[in-house]
Amino acid sequence: MVLAQLGGSISRALAQMSNATVIDEKVLNDCLNEISRALLQSDVQFKMVRDMQTNIKRIVNLEALAAGTNKRRIMQQAVFTELCNMLDPGKPSFTPKKGKPSVVMFVGLQAHNDVHSGLGHRLTASNPTHKLKAVKPLLVSGSSGKTTTCTKYAYYHQRKGFKPALVCADTFRAGAFDQLKQNATKAKIPFYGSYMESDPVKIAVEGVERFKKENCDLIIVDTSGRHKQEAALFEEMRQVSEATKPDLVIFVMDSSIGQAAFDQAQAFKQSVSVGAVIITKMDGHAKGGGALSAVAATKSPVIFIGTGEHIDEFEVFDVKPFVSRLLG
Ligand code: GDP
Repeated sequence: MVLAQLGGSISRALAQMSNATVIDEKVLNDCLNEISRALLQSDVQFKMVRDMQTNIKRIVNLEALAAGTNKRRIMQQAVFTELCNMLDPGKPSFTPKKGKPSVVMFVGLQAHNDVHSGLGHRLTASNPTHKLKAVKPLLVSGSSGKTTTCTKYAYYHQRKGFKPALVCADTFRAGAFDQLKQNATKAKIPFYGSYMESDPVKIAVEGVERFKKENCDLIIVDTSGRHKQEAALFEEMRQVSEATKPDLVIFVMDSSIGQAAFDQAQAFKQSVSVGAVIITKMDGHAKGGGALSAVAATKSPVIFIGTGEHIDEFEVFDVKPFVSRLLG
């Protein structure tokens, strides 16, 4: 179920409840069940849906409400609030300041079912750095869009008056540097990387140092999204993070990832201190539930969404307008 459909289903459930002559416990339960079904079909994690149901029931608690209160409005408000809460971890993420050097590191998976990378194995929250038995792959589509998103993020800030720079610390994937270089050149953003050096930590440190000297105030480090083994991928990420001491680690996730979103996001969070999430490909036929799950798993807010392949198809993510739009 794509996001627009999710919003439509929830709105319909609320409208059906509103049409009922008397709003009793059964009407409310039917409405809640309808909403829960829509959320589950959109790949929101089961536990989150169950928690939401409990919370809404508590808020609406029919018996406790004084006679004459508008139950329809209370229910509608409760659904709105709960959806907002699911998307709002309660603490804002670090935001870069102009003129003050910040390092922002991007992490996320690059591809799935890649027989050479071994990333077709499941990463789990409880065991993020060890390869487990081969089970279903975590990603249900190709690349997360991380490299494109690095450039979009740089470009967005450049237009706000920042002096951004891009560092390619992905030495695993042939062509990673070329891709970043191409994107950066198009957007006239300085970049750093190497065709020869194989140590991502060395490149990351050199790039960050160089751009600090050049007074760049937003230094973006793109890390590898795949490796021979998951363990190597997470270890590398951890080392790059330790060496560059990023002010913010952004986890990039493809919106079509589905039910695997929670586990994947949590696995990343347990390896590096993820502080924000960017969801890509929100323009496609994605199920929206992954966004909600990633927030819950990382306890970090979604700060931007990718809405197309073009460099400016990138939007600031605001919870309340997003949920309002979702509910129509
Ligand atoms: P990476 O391998 O994770 O670094 O992913 P890339 O940046 O190479 O992106 C993979 C593909 O997804 C490219 O064709 C991008 O143009 C595309 N892409 C990235 N973000 C978006 C988005 O928000 N919407 C759409 N439609 N495509 C995107």
